[in-house]
Amino acid sequence: MKKYRSPIILWLLFEAIAIWLWQATGNLFFLLNFSYIGTCIGLGGILFAAGWKYAREFTQFCVGTYMLVFLGLICRENIQIEGFWYYLLSGVWGAGTLHYAIAKIFGPLLFGRGWCGYACWTAMILDLLPYKQPKVPRKSWGFIRYIMFGLSLTIVLLLFWLGKTTAYTMFMLFVAGNIFYYAVGITLAILLKDNRAFCKYICPITVFLKPMSYYSLIRIKCDEEKCISCGKCLKVCPMEVKVNKSARMRKNATECILCQKCTKACPTKALSV
Ligand code: SF4
Ligand code: SF4
Ligand code: SF4
Repeated sequence: MKKYRSPIILWLLFEAIAIWLWQATGNLFFLLNFSYIGTCIGLGGILFAAGWKYAREFTQFCVGTYMLVFLGLICRENIQIEGFWYYLLSGVWGAGTLHYAIAKIFGPLLFGRGWCGYACWTAMILDLLPYKQPKVPRKSWGFIRYIMFGLSLTIVLLLFWLGKTTAYTMFMLFVAGNIFYYAVGITLAILLKDNRAFCKYICPITVFLKPMSYYSLIRIKCDEEKCISCGKCLKVCPMEVKVNKSARMRKNATECILCQKCTKACPTKALSV
């Protein structure tokens, strides 16, 4: 039972947030929303602990499709970065700000870039492509994320200036943004033979995710005394994290998406969460 303890605790944590937000706001949506997400994550964790190969993908699809299809397309909530700027600049505690606060700004202090490994609807499609491990050396293109970050804010500021921040405009921005992300993400993955190239160079959300996840409580640790330097963990890592070192400052440390491919590959059990 010990191996199921962490997912059950995580599940209970989401339930506590769900009940707290429901009671604080009187809005039943919060209870259903966080209960659903917590159940997907908890169940995924239990399936992972039980050894099911596709447990992470299962969670990613359950959460990702819910967010993209239900929240984004059916409920018409812009929960992309532009939606976050929109709610923030409007001074409204809306879905976009809440989502960003929990999943991408303060949550990463606890669960690092777990969002990127288990929930993101962009990566849920990119991960289906065949380039699971990068085959070419990493490019120095990380600066693009800051351009994208600035661009997303500029677009929303422009919409405010033009007086066009209607619900329809924000919905269309969500649709257009997702089409753009998928088109660029898939093209880059094919060109660079790396499923996660979009995450490494383009995604503006990493401007929040990277610094916050540096301090993450949950992280992959390496018992360097057990390590035999076989390099298997480095070969399977989709994000090129130098995970056979334990220091927070290890190479590409803030890229870790907690997929745990490395822990599964390690022959000496030197790696753990
Ligand atoms: S880096 Fe961006 S696109 Fe990639 S998984 Fe994280 S949030 Fe999604
Ligand atoms: S393989 Fe290990 S180090 Fe690499 S992203 Fe996954 S969990 Fe992080
Ligand atoms: S797989 Fe394990 S033993 Fe091999 S290099 Fe990585 S941490 Fe060390």
